[in-house]
Amino acid sequence: MARARDPIADLRRIAFLLERANEATYRVRAFRSAAKALAGLPAAELTERAGNGTLTELAGVGDVTARCVAESLAGEEPVYLRRLVATEGSDLDAEATALRAALRGDCHTHSDWSDGGSPIEEMALAAVELGHEYLVLTDHSPRLTVARGLTAERLRRQLDHVAQVNAALPEGFRILTGIEVDILADGSLDQNDDLLARLDVVVGSVHSGLKDERSKMTRRMVKAVANPHLDILGHITGRMVSSRPAGVTGPGDRGHRARTRAESDFDADAVFAACAEHDTAVEINSRPERQDPPKRLIRRALEAGCRFAINTDAHAPGQLDWQRFGCERAALCGVPADRVINTWSAEQLVTWTHIRA
Ligand SMILES: [Zn+2]
Ligand SMILES: [Zn+2]
Repeated sequence: MARARDPIADLRRIAFLLERANEATYRVRAFRSAAKALAGLPAAELTERAGNGTLTELAGVGDVTARCVAESLAGEEPVYLRRLVATEGSDLDAEATALRAALRGDCHTHSDWSDGGSPIEEMALAAVELGHEYLVLTDHSPRLTVARGLTAERLRRQLDHVAQVNAALPEGFRILTGIEVDILADGSLDQNDDLLARLDVVVGSVHSGLKDERSKMTRRMVKAVANPHLDILGHITGRMVSSRPAGVTGPGDRGHRARTRAESDFDADAVFAACAEHDTAVEINSRPERQDPPKRLIRRALEAGCRFAINTDAHAPGQLDWQRFGCERAALCGVPADRVINTWSAEQLVTWTHIRA
């Protein structure tokens, strides 16, 4: 019997759509675990178990996921999936849509090597499905211990691992190496220079001392921006406008999921002038709880002549589709596609970062 649909792909698709919709992590996990549990099963056994109702005897498969599989094997789109697709609707206007369509990759993402929830391979496959040409993997740096920041030694191992994963990925797509490096109190970067030089893309962010006094924070950021290794200045104000999505952990938020956080205080004009002078891109962070920088600062960075990177800062595969939120804000502020570095191909991007250092 020819199978009309792939039930594993349907389960993974459901997980992706739930994640993208910012639903609770346990829901997403139910579908992803079921997909994993069933992926190893011979097709004949899958069909038999779906037929006699014994799929739920398998670890990781519940009533809802079993029903999806049965519907899928019968050649129907699972009802659960159909409802998700019917309500996913996009409200992007034409300009934001055009900007999103121009993006060819994502320059800020995390895996389970630091505080992300999924293996590098899963993140890469989701990026492929989104139509990206590249994904920059930017796990955290050593001092961010709450996020399992990578020591130099673990980062070296990750580089070897990425090379292996890349060899197995579809042609036309690659994982670029990178880091989200902490900008330390004195403005220096929290990783060895030789490693920073080796990476394809370096995102630098402030994760500590967010309440530093204005002149100190300005000096700290300007010094980091002037560092030739730094390519992109991440979530520049550090603000949190709403609660973090369920299940997403991050620096300093253990047990404080509902917390919001004010913007750091710094001289934005001085920081943007430094970004323009050193050709360091300003990140437009798409995370719903960050929305960083606020629109008034995006407009000022644009006037200052800065480049931008519209990134998701995804900690899970479904979050890779959050770029549309960043595009929406960029479009509202009039950011043209030719100022956005992830509209470039992987080659153009890496050429640019390597000219810089
Ligand atoms: Zn960060
Ligand atoms: Zn990040």
